[in-house]
Amino acid sequence: MLEQPYEYAARELVEPDWRRLPGFDGVSEEDWRSAQWQRAHCVKNVRQLRAVYADLLDDAFYADLERDQAERATMSILLPPQMVNTMVPFDAPSTDAMYADPVRRYMLPAFSDRDPVWPSHPKSARDSLHEAEMWVVEGLTHRYPTKVLAELLPTCPQYCGHCTRMDLVGNSTPQVDKHKFSLKPVDRLDSMIDYLRRTPGVRDVVVSGGDVANMPWPRLEAFMTRLLEIDNVRDIRLATKALMGLPQHWLQDEVRIGMERLGATARERGVSIAIHTHINSAQSVTPLVARATRAMLDTGIRDVRNQGVLLRGVNATQQDLLDLCFALQDEAAILPYYFYMCDMIPGSEHWRVAVHEAQALQHAIMGYLPGFATPRIVCDVPYVGKRWVHQLDSYDRVRGVSYWTKNYRTSVEHDDPAALSRLYDYYDPIGSLPPEGQSWWREQAGEPSYDAVAAGASRDAAAALAGI
Ligand code: SF4
Repeated sequence: MLEQPYEYAARELVEPDWRRLPGFDGVSEEDWRSAQWQRAHCVKNVRQLRAVYADLLDDAFYADLERDQAERATMSILLPPQMVNTMVPFDAPSTDAMYADPVRRYMLPAFSDRDPVWPSHPKSARDSLHEAEMWVVEGLTHRYPTKVLAELLPTCPQYCGHCTRMDLVGNSTPQVDKHKFSLKPVDRLDSMIDYLRRTPGVRDVVVSGGDVANMPWPRLEAFMTRLLEIDNVRDIRLATKALMGLPQHWLQDEVRIGMERLGATARERGVSIAIHTHINSAQSVTPLVARATRAMLDTGIRDVRNQGVLLRGVNATQQDLLDLCFALQDEAAILPYYFYMCDMIPGSEHWRVAVHEAQALQHAIMGYLPGFATPRIVCDVPYVGKRWVHQLDSYDRVRGVSYWTKNYRTSVEHDDPAALSRLYDYYDPIGSLPPEGQSWWREQAGEPSYDAVAAGASRDAAAALAGI
């Protein structure tokens, strides 16, 4: 009998033993389970990473990370020990294993990972989704007709190398001077609540950041309580990668008990609260992540869902996507909901996949998971929003340009008669194109339309072109 393209096998979750890492050798179970200890012992730079791995890793590897931080990185390093422990989880880490590790590849990018010719697409941009342009009050993006995104704060307990909000989230890096909110946090949050009260057409609020796990619980609960008092708000989604990166946070009594209060109020008012997390690799789903998820579901909230990001070298294969989805669905009660294509931010070319590759992956994962748990792979098209990857209007495979349409106006298009008839473009990574397409882009790179300043890409592209 011929084999299936994917062979399902149930996989019991195992927490990797942190004591295999020299820097965590003497750490007790009690400390490891403490959110405070985890936060106090985050890895924030290469020197601290060296203190964890000592001489298990070559000097050249540390130098590669340092060069990336200096010359390419859009995000600074921030890794809770919990996440460090999921890299090369069950062996003594070697340099080769670290280079190949999927969690390392997106949380700790090395200079040598990046595309050497086109580290950034010429059309890449800070804030590539134009979220700030669609702020109706500072930090509140109104892009879709009935839903808004509330960016409560610009920090997270962990920083992902591919963060789409690299414009605002995290600390500045040598390449990226982060934008800052100008209003005081209390005034921003008041303005958001005020907008939602006077905008009855909005029924769905994504409460995000950054990561809501970085907001002191009493302040987050107070904001959520005010949201629950607004009649038109029917769905609230709390965005937190920390459910995986720092599950200890969500297991704290203060947080669990507070979520129970919110869950009870939401049920009384007929509002759904869900947690949306961001897990990209099966090895990140550990027993502690499953416990934190269970603790949240036990508070009476509606659901916990995963919105991963499709990243080359991390999860962009049938095997990796299905392994992750089964770990989420079977072992952690997290619904595999979406995989986003990685957005067109500077420095992301080596992670991005082409639209046709995403379409092939969507096809490859159909039929294995229950239909309700089969994630949609989506492309977040600038000025459009999320589209399923098969929904494009037309596609130039040589130049890697796909064209998309939409059926609603964003908050910046109420006076734009062409908004619903225009075609909106999205670009495949140049390295994925046939030779004639790559030549075309080399010819274009000097043209005025080249969005170099916004992308921070001019330096990269110029350097790349000079070498061609
Ligand atoms: S957790 Fe989300 S917001 Fe924070 S760095 Fe990662 S992708 Fe960005």
